[in-house]
Amino acid sequence: MTRLTHFIANQDVVPASGAWLPVYEPATGTRYAEAPDGDARDVAMAVDAARAAFPAWSTTPAATRSRILLDIADRLERRVAEFAQAESRDQGKPVALARDLEIPRAAANFRYFATKILHESTECFRTDSLTSGDRALNYVLRQPRGVVGAISPWNLPLYLFTWKIAPALATGNTVVAKPSEITPYTAWMFGELCREAKLPAGVLNIVHGLGPKVGQAIVAHPAVTTITFTGGTSTGAAIAAAAAPHFKKLSLELGGKNATIVCEDVDLESALSTIVRSAFQNQGEICLCGSRILVHRARLKEFCDRFIDESRTLKVGDPTAPDTDVGAIVSRQHLEKIQSYVALAKLEGGKVACGGGVPRLLPERCRNGWFHEPTVIVGLAPNCRTATEEIFGPVVSIHGYDTHGEAVAIANGTRYGLAASIWTRDIDRAHRMAAKIDSGVVWINTWMLRDLRTPFGGMKDSGVGREGGDDAMRFFTETKNVCVGFRES
Ligand code: NDP
Repeated sequence: MTRLTHFIANQDVVPASGAWLPVYEPATGTRYAEAPDGDARDVAMAVDAARAAFPAWSTTPAATRSRILLDIADRLERRVAEFAQAESRDQGKPVALARDLEIPRAAANFRYFATKILHESTECFRTDSLTSGDRALNYVLRQPRGVVGAISPWNLPLYLFTWKIAPALATGNTVVAKPSEITPYTAWMFGELCREAKLPAGVLNIVHGLGPKVGQAIVAHPAVTTITFTGGTSTGAAIAAAAAPHFKKLSLELGGKNATIVCEDVDLESALSTIVRSAFQNQGEICLCGSRILVHRARLKEFCDRFIDESRTLKVGDPTAPDTDVGAIVSRQHLEKIQSYVALAKLEGGKVACGGGVPRLLPERCRNGWFHEPTVIVGLAPNCRTATEEIFGPVVSIHGYDTHGEAVAIANGTRYGLAASIWTRDIDRAHRMAAKIDSGVVWINTWMLRDLRTPFGGMKDSGVGREGGDDAMRFFTETKNVCVGFRES
């Protein structure tokens, strides 16, 4: 059985506690590796390493930082198949999804920020004082903030891990990162890549373990100036409370309950397969999945019939099989949470129109794995718990609406505000609706098309702050105004 280690100052470090956590393969329900059960002592060691590395890394020329980060991206791209297989075994997702989308995207995160830092400019303002006759030129410095704490979840493990650490490192910070203890494997492999690419010791440190121990110790450490977190809303609230007295800079990317709005003029022929994918990709374990589908009543019956037919064609099964569409649920505990929501939906008056349980025809290897069928629930009120709380699994509810104003009101009727999609041929109307929807991202006639230059984040209980593109560059740097006076005569 593989024993993972922390990655601190480019060394493989065993946990100070001497204790290990089991790592399971969701598709089989078997334990196949062990991860360090880290604690505050390991975090302190990692923060010391990151602090020691900061002066040299933060003053390393951008071109040199860029070369090292591009080397990491190259190495990851050369090993896509191996990383994809590991990600799938650890998380339960179809190996094809990891190979074709997520691991290449992790490399792209590094490539994008490694090249972005080569093309940065800064603002300059001329000041003419009305009273004193003084003149000045102001320029803006954006400097790295020091040690960044990066905490990421289990659904898109390496994709989201690199989404945080790539801009943090590119802008000259050093990092202490914690992957989810449920999916630690590719982060562990990633440390090895960084060592091969000769990332200087201490620039990136990876500490494994439980959120309440390792995550909390990262947030509480006085030398960690900046926290970037992706995960659940209640964890985000705990982190915000712990960070507030120390005035740490915080970016929180939290949960969602995203509306998919289907208008009466939708081109269902071209839209349907993407709408189905938006509901069930990665077993519905993507914060951006459309889990509430709002359909104009003029097309409700037709949409339900076609959506359910298409959902029934999805193959649930072994994540290693090339034709699997829906893999395993990440943990037994999460499977139980999904099942409890299906039970709740029935209590709330919903009818399970498709799926609802554990698939029957699983291969022998997966007999003890954690699987759930793509599930469609109809007949629920749009404000019930099932339709407003985040399930984060392959479960969607479909609701009818009569006016576009009503659709927007339902879309805005949850505590969340992460993403929405609108499906219509009337682009003017789509623009008007997009402006009224309270969410950080609105897609029109597409879904999950993510450009690394665009701002990403949520409104309301879906988060605070934006990352991606220039927003990430600003988040991971401290802005300073330098004012240089001069006389013209
Ligand atoms: P959690 O909030 O449970 O965990 C996220 C990370 O935080 C994990 O590494 C976890 O460690 C750690 N953590 C837990 N408790 C603490 C604590 N007290 N202090 C510091 N760190 C802590 O989320 P999940 O892993 O369950 O991920 C699913 C959630 O993530 C969903 O709500 C989903 O919507 C959200 N998400 C949001 C995205 C966005 O961009 N807005 C994108 C992807 C997911 P451990 O695993 O050991 O508990």
